[in-house]
Amino acid sequence: MRTEHYDVVVIGAGVSGLYALHHFRELGMSVRAYDDAPTVGGTWWHNRYPGARVDGPSAPLYGYTFSRELIEEWDWPETQAAQSDVLAYVQHVADRFDLHRDIQLETWIQAARYDESTQRWTVETDGGTRISAQFLICAVGALSTPNEPDIPGIDTFAGACLHTGSWPEEPVSFAGKRVGVIGTGSSGVQSIPEIAKEAEHVTVFQRTPQYTIPARNRPLEPEELEAVRTNWDKLLEGMKRPPPPDRPLAIQPGIGHSAYDDTPEERRAVYEKLWEIGTLGFVANNYPELLVNEEINLEVSAFIQGKIREIVEDPETADKLMPDHFYGTKRPILDDGYYETYNRDNVTLVDLRQDPIEEVTATGVRTASGEHPIDILVLATGFDAITGSMLRLDPKGRGGVSLKDKWSSRFHNYLGLMVSEFPNLFMIHGPGTPGVLYLMPLGAELETQWIADCVTRMREQGMGAVEPTHDAELAWDREVNAIAEKTLFPRTDSWYTGANIPGKPRHFSVHLGGPTYFHRIAAVADEGYEGFMFEGERSTGAASD
Ligand code: NAP
Repeated sequence: MRTEHYDVVVIGAGVSGLYALHHFRELGMSVRAYDDAPTVGGTWWHNRYPGARVDGPSAPLYGYTFSRELIEEWDWPETQAAQSDVLAYVQHVADRFDLHRDIQLETWIQAARYDESTQRWTVETDGGTRISAQFLICAVGALSTPNEPDIPGIDTFAGACLHTGSWPEEPVSFAGKRVGVIGTGSSGVQSIPEIAKEAEHVTVFQRTPQYTIPARNRPLEPEELEAVRTNWDKLLEGMKRPPPPDRPLAIQPGIGHSAYDDTPEERRAVYEKLWEIGTLGFVANNYPELLVNEEINLEVSAFIQGKIREIVEDPETADKLMPDHFYGTKRPILDDGYYETYNRDNVTLVDLRQDPIEEVTATGVRTASGEHPIDILVLATGFDAITGSMLRLDPKGRGGVSLKDKWSSRFHNYLGLMVSEFPNLFMIHGPGTPGVLYLMPLGAELETQWIADCVTRMREQGMGAVEPTHDAELAWDREVNAIAEKTLFPRTDSWYTGANIPGKPRHFSVHLGGPTYFHRIAAVADEGYEGFMFEGERSTGAASD
C-alpha cells in the first residue's frame, strides 16, 4: 500500500476542519483534509431537513472571524440563515481561500494509529490509501454521529426512514404522505411545522416535551449588515471577552441586574418583552439567575408553560406538550410556529411517556394504544454528541491503546483538546470545550490557534511529541464539573450529560465558561504548558516508501 506523507492530517471538512486546514497551511505546513461527504460543509451538508437553520444571529455570530474581507463581502440574507445559505457560505470560504486542492472528499478515515518510533500517526482511508502525518487534527463534529434509535422492528419499515442528521441529497416530497416524526429536540421542532405544511398527516412521537421560543427570523436589512462591518472590531472583542467576575459563567445571562431587584410583576413584564423579541436573546438577556437559581428558573419555565396553554387550542394536547425540566438546561430551541402546528387538523401528538412505542411495523408505528399508519418515518432523534464521532474513529494511541477502552467509563481529556496516551492528536470541539454553548466557528478558530501555537513551539524546540498527563486530565474533569455543578444543567437529562444514548457514561462534557475557557487554555500555554509532557524528536518521519 502506498503511503502519503504530510505534516498535518485533518479529519473533517466542516466549519472547524476547513479553518484548521487554512491555518496550518498558512504556517507553511503540508496539510491534507478528508471528509466522507461529497462537499465541504460538515453539519450543514448532512442536516438538510426541512426548516434547518441556525438559531443564533448569522451575522456576525455564525461565521468565521479570521478574514476581514470575508466579513466585508458575505451578505447574510436573514437574521438566522437557512441551512442552504450556511452551506453556500462554507463552500464560498473553501473557494475563496483555495482550500479544495488540499481536501479529499467522499473519503472515510477508517483507522488511525500512532507509531511511537516515528512519533507519527498513520491513517487509512476506505479507498485503501495510507497517510502518515506528525499531527492528527480531529475536526469530526460535536453533533455528527446520528443517534439511530434501537426500536424493535425499525428495520422492517417498508417506507423511507430518514434521519434529520443524515438527510438524503435528493428532495423529499411529503405531499399526500402520512409522516411519523420521532423526536422533539431542535431538529424536530424546526422540521415538524415545515413537514406539516405539506404532508397529508403528521404524527409526532414525543418522549420529552420541550420549551421553545419564537425565532422571529426575518430578512437582514443592508443597514444592519453595514453596522456589523463598521463595528466589527468592537463586536469581535465583545465575543471574546470573558464575562465579568459577578457572572463567572458565560451561560449566565445578563439583563444587568438581579431578578430579586424586580417585583414578580416587573419580572413578568421582562419575560413578556423577551418573548416578543424572541431569539436566543430570551436566554442571553434574561436574569443572571436563570440557569443557576431554581426559583427563578421555575418562574421562567412556568411563563413558557403559560404561553403553550395560550397557543395550543386543545387542552389535552397542551397538557402533553408541557415540559417539566428546568428551562435552558437542555439546549434552548427556537421555532417558527411549533406549538401552533398542533392546532392543525393534520397533526397528532403521541405522548410516549403515556403511550410508549412497542414496535415499528412495515406500515407504521405501534404504540401501546394501537397502530399509527405511516408512509415516511423521520428520526429527529439527535446525535451521540461530543464524543460519538471520536469513538467511531476509535484511534489507537501509544502501545495500541484504543480510545474506546480509554473512554469506556469517563471521557478523560485535558483542556478538551488532547487525551493522554494519544500524542500529537488534537480535537476541536471535543468533550470539555464550550462547543455549542459558545460560537462554533469562532470557537474552532480559537482552538485551532491554540493547537497551532503548540505545534509551532514544538518545532522551534525540536520536540517530536506532546501529550497531557493523566493527572492533568483528572484535574480538568474536576474543573469542568465544578463549573457545571454551580448550575442547574446537571439536573436534567440531555445530550450534554450523555443521557440521550442508552449505555453511554453519564459525564457532563461541556465547559460552561464560554470565553473564560479560551482565556484558561491561553494561560496554560503562556505558563509553559503545565500538564503536558513533551518528547524530543526521534525521527524526521519523512521517509517515503
Ligand atoms: P436532540 O436535541 O438530542 O433531540 C432528540 C429528540 O429525540 C429528543 O426529543 C429525544 O427525546 C428524542 N429521542 C431520542 N431517542 C429516542 C427514542 N429512542 N425514542 C423516542 N424519542 C427519542 O437532537 P436534535 O434535535 O437533533 O438536536 C441536537 C442538537 O443539535 C441541538 O441541541 C443543537 O445544539 C443542535 N441543533 C441546532 C440547530 C440550530 O442551530 N438551529 C438545529 C438542530 C440541531 P429525549 O429528550 O427524551 O431524549
